[in-house]
Amino acid sequence: MSKFADVILPVPLNRYFTYSIPYSLEHLVVPGVRLYVPFGKNRRMTAITVRTHEEKPSGYSVKEILSVLDQSFPSFLPQQMKLFSWLSDYYLCSPGEVMKAALPVGLRPDNNSKRHAFRPKTELFVRLGHNPDLRNDICPEQLFGNKAKARKELFIKYLELSGMNIHPESPKPVSKLTLSEFCKSSSVIQSLVDKDILEYYEVETGRLQPFIGSTIKPNNLSPIQQKAIDEIHTSFSNKNVCLLHGITSCGKTEIYIHLIKEQIDRGKQVLYLLPEIALTSQIMLRLQSVFGNDMTVYHSRCSENVRAEIWNHQTGPEPYKLVLGARSAVMLPFKNLGLIIVDEEHEPSFKQDEPAPRYHGRNTAIMLASFSQAKTLLGSATPSFESYHNALTGKYGLVTISQRFRETRLPTPLIVDVAEMMRKKYMKGIMSPQLIEKIAQALDNRKQVILFQNRRGYSDTVECPDCGWVQRCDRCDVSLTFHKENGMAVCHYCGHKYLIPVSCPSCGGKALRGRGYGTERIEETIKNLFPQARTSRLDLDSAKNGYETILSDFQKGRTDILVGTQMISKGLDFENVNVVGILQADSILSYPDFRATERAYQLIMQVAGRAGRKESGAVVVIQTRQPDAKILNMLRFDDWKEFYTEQIVERKLFNYPPFSRLVMVTLKSQSLDRVEKTSALMAEKLTGLFGKEMVLGPDAPAISRIQSRHIRTILVKNPAEIPVRQTRALLLQAAEELKVYGELLNGVTLSFDADPQ
Ligand code: ADP
Ligand code: ZN
Ligand code: ZN
Repeated sequence: MSKFADVILPVPLNRYFTYSIPYSLEHLVVPGVRLYVPFGKNRRMTAITVRTHEEKPSGYSVKEILSVLDQSFPSFLPQQMKLFSWLSDYYLCSPGEVMKAALPVGLRPDNNSKRHAFRPKTELFVRLGHNPDLRNDICPEQLFGNKAKARKELFIKYLELSGMNIHPESPKPVSKLTLSEFCKSSSVIQSLVDKDILEYYEVETGRLQPFIGSTIKPNNLSPIQQKAIDEIHTSFSNKNVCLLHGITSCGKTEIYIHLIKEQIDRGKQVLYLLPEIALTSQIMLRLQSVFGNDMTVYHSRCSENVRAEIWNHQTGPEPYKLVLGARSAVMLPFKNLGLIIVDEEHEPSFKQDEPAPRYHGRNTAIMLASFSQAKTLLGSATPSFESYHNALTGKYGLVTISQRFRETRLPTPLIVDVAEMMRKKYMKGIMSPQLIEKIAQALDNRKQVILFQNRRGYSDTVECPDCGWVQRCDRCDVSLTFHKENGMAVCHYCGHKYLIPVSCPSCGGKALRGRGYGTERIEETIKNLFPQARTSRLDLDSAKNGYETILSDFQKGRTDILVGTQMISKGLDFENVNVVGILQADSILSYPDFRATERAYQLIMQVAGRAGRKESGAVVVIQTRQPDAKILNMLRFDDWKEFYTEQIVERKLFNYPPFSRLVMVTLKSQSLDRVEKTSALMAEKLTGLFGKEMVLGPDAPAISRIQSRHIRTILVKNPAEIPVRQTRALLLQAAEELKVYGELLNGVTLSFDADPQ
């Protein structure tokens, strides 16, 4: 019999912890089960059992497990335990950090936390009590006589509602709430309960809204789509991952629906991942119409209780067959996973930046599928170079669709030279005459327009036209963005809000003004230029009041022009859009990163893909100051391969992904001196371990101070031929060796980001 359990605790220490198992709990403690254990002096917290054994740890007195939190089913399945171990190895974080990211707060009680442990939502129902007078025939006249009129009437109502007046042997459930609608005060029900004529009982009703209505059959596939499905099946016969490269609006979502249905018919489960929560509502409606109550939606914006409820559902006897979710849904238990779909697989937002684990949703999905003997389908119109490389080299299957479902042509790009238009004084604010004309035409033809700007707020900066002073954040190394809606200057890095000074603090000038264009200001400009059009805006700020309405109004044609940030760029399916404007392409073209060109191309193609989904003749107006930029002249919306083939040469030359893997080491401290010294030391260690060509930095990033902490980064390249395990060990070794500098490290934090995006 085992006597000890190694467990994961939700703390950032890179190890497991060992507890002893009381005899009475021995049969309950198995891997994957949640435990309640003491930690430190007074702390009690939830732990996950990793393994049980008989090796008594030496050197300290082992504490005993207090209780077992999972009685009927373990909260974690074996494949999840494998996944968590992979996550903490690959992403260089502690098992406890993985646990915290995975398990909803309600499922990990902690005596130090103000949050309540998950409680199922219940409702009170009423049924017959045990009053002796109820033993034979139930006769309200006899029970109440002529005195208690209110009670008698209510009791008769109960008999009707429960159907007992007709079928006394099979009462239907009646909730207290329903019954109370038929009496003036709930004291009447209470008095029936006091007399034991009725009694209360509790039923678990849950928080998840069921889908009401009938489901429909999926659409029939076109021959091209059917051929793609056949090819996907063939590829799955000898490969675990398949990349579906299909141009925007070729019907990838329809193909997914058919594949999901096949899995469900075979008794398997499917996980469908999307990069952006804002996308889920539209796809959810499409999926729900086919899968009804077989599916649910899981992401970080669901309430903690809902997340706990879904988790429990997944380990219970009848789990959801389809889960639609954002990245964190890969952490859920799936007992019988058949397929994971990762839509828009190229999206950088699949990667979590903060806090650890800094994991990539797509790559984690591929691992989960392989631990679960399931397959992964990646979908994109503009695949990431990593996935495309894997597909072209045969590691993944590759299925291509190059025709839109409705055979509409992809939109034509129209490149506008903003500098020239400015010189000729043709610009109206940020709007070029070409774009204004296209919008006017679209409105005349009752078509819709999407305008894209990668900046929320009103203007980029608040500045003094006299002396050039710019309002900056006190804690971060950035200028502030003016938000007209609340009249404040906001830091987009730490969220801090500032009042705008009445006069320039530097020269006393009174004419402070905003410069540049954010979505708020563009919305204003459009409303002035096209007062008859209905304009709305979707960005992080407006989404707070419900992005669903903004999107569904646009979808239903209640609005004509939608202004937005990258939230509107991907995946959304609007039938009637035939002009898309990219207002400042330059901001997209100048990311300081080796992926800049790839990203710019993807973003432009994605935004463009929102247009002309039902009819040909759509245009994408791209406003830029660099009309000769090579990438703009390569914009043929239908030849990703050509673009890839050209770009990949450079990646190979400089040994960037997909030809190497990167790990970003980030050091932060309030003290500039310390962060500079430690990062220099760390870089020296890493250079010693990996060689000079493999280590870049330390560098100060473009924004070198956030929330009063100075930042330095070191980039480590891991050539494909060196096993990941080896690099990880060396990185941890370097961090460990740094510890001899004790004092210097005070207040310096070091973190790793594997495959930074
Ligand atoms: P993608 O995901 O590739 O961008 P969608 O699946 O959203 O493409 O399809 C684009 C449009 O074409 C949608 O409005 C969709 O309903 C429609 N469509 C695609 N395939 C079919 C089909 N087989 N039958 C009916 N409509 C389809
Ligand atoms: Zn000034
Ligand atoms: Zn700030």
